[in-house]
Amino acid sequence: MMARISEIFESIQGEGILLGVLQLFIRFCGCNLNCYYCDTIKDSDLCKDEVNRKFLKNPIEIDYVQKVIDSSKVHSVSFTGGEPMLQAEFIKSLRKTKPFYLETNMTLPDKAKELKFVDFVAGDLKVREARIKNYDDIIERTFKSFKILRNTKKRLTFCKIILPSEFENKEIINSALQIKDYVCCFVLQPVFGVELDNIFKLQKEILEFADVRLIPQVHKLIGVK
Ligand code: SF4
Repeated sequence: MMARISEIFESIQGEGILLGVLQLFIRFCGCNLNCYYCDTIKDSDLCKDEVNRKFLKNPIEIDYVQKVIDSSKVHSVSFTGGEPMLQAEFIKSLRKTKPFYLETNMTLPDKAKELKFVDFVAGDLKVREARIKNYDDIIERTFKSFKILRNTKKRLTFCKIILPSEFENKEIINSALQIKDYVCCFVLQPVFGVELDNIFKLQKEILEFADVRLIPQVHKLIGVK
């Protein structure tokens, strides 16, 4: 089995409630969305393996990825992208010799069913924006994915909301109410450098019914990947 992977590297987790833990990142190519703030590589002929300091030709064999996971001394393995749920079969076929952490846009519920065995889910609730087509359909699929990958005793699931300075407050609150029973908390993550006034207001409103934290992207603040 093979997958297209743009990067393999170790770094701290820079977002969400596991902020600061050391992780091995497996960054897959490809995504089903096209968010305006996206800064990840969508495809690449080469995979940059920083752990072993070499470039590999895509696609990458699963045995290679397994070896990197097994030999890595980290808190957990972060599957990111792109959209890692597009590679659900590949992730499912790996042996979980370390805790698995899934960073996902939560818009592919059929794939979410394949990934119930992961230990951590950092799932997005996308805010309406021009480049996201069929937003209403995407939100319905997001609710389904959170229900499938909900927070349990064995799996820690939180919801991340990436926010510009202006957004539709009421719509986010309504969506958060649909998700609140499936997550341990909400994380409001400002787009890097935006005004925070409206985000502080949103935090107060969500606090009425759920735990909610404002956490910026710390890896960008301290200048690491
Ligand atoms: S879901 Fe993530 S990877 Fe996909 S376009 Fe949006 S920010 Fe980029």
